Amino acid sequence: MSDKNNQINPKKCIVFFDFDNTIATCDVFDNMLLLFSRDDRWVELEKRWKSGRIGSKTCMEGQLRGMDLEKKSLDAYLPKIKLDPYFKELYKFLQSKKVKTVVLSDNFDYILNQILKINRIKKLKVLANKLSFSRGKAITDYPFKNKDCQVCAHCKTKNLLDSSPKDATIIYVGDGASDICPAKRAHLVFAKDSLLKYFKDNKLEHTVFHNLKEVFNQLKRKLA
Ligand SMILES: [Mg+2]
Ligand SMILES: [Zn+2]
Repeated sequence: MSDKNNQINPKKCIVFFDFDNTIATCDVFDNMLLLFSRDDRWVELEKRWKSGRIGSKTCMEGQLRGMDLEKKSLDAYLPKIKLDPYFKELYKFLQSKKVKTVVLSDNFDYILNQILKINRIKKLKVLANKLSFSRGKAITDYPFKNKDCQVCAHCKTKNLLDSSPKDATIIYVGDGASDICPAKRAHLVFAKDSLLKYFKDNKLEHTVFHNLKEVFNQLKRKLA
């Protein structure tokens, strides 16, 4: 963990990022609903998910079934996604310090990997739900579903713990409901939106961020 001066040893540090609304400036899947859904049935699923009546796997599967999602149209849409303007710089800094960096997302790997590739971000490990295409049609799989968890499709805590060496200082950067459990296992949490609200309401230690510049500035100091 960190010493008296609040410094963190880069060699013993691992940083986890959420993707939607954290690395990306929007929720990519939510935008896809508007673009590719055949009708507005996704709205009801979204309501049920928000109120906790269904988990995100049931929600996403239902919403995907309601989409005309073809590889071609998805590939044409993904270059429009904007990343947080400071992510690239922050990631380069972490690479220069040899800090292990992992993306934990409840979105799909194909979508994230394409967006990262378009933005020329290389060698960033992504753990997410699986999406592939066969003859242009979408096929999904959820290898990180936890049968005891009714909330997430990718239950992030297990991957966070499995990826972190025993004595590592764990840093978590995120915004949403699926970030709450994994962030509770971290030593340093950067939070916005629902994750921030949860940490505030439960009086858990955290740092507020609005964009990744604030995370970058703090980590530059702590990992100097
Ligand atoms: Mg998010
Ligand atoms: Zn979960």
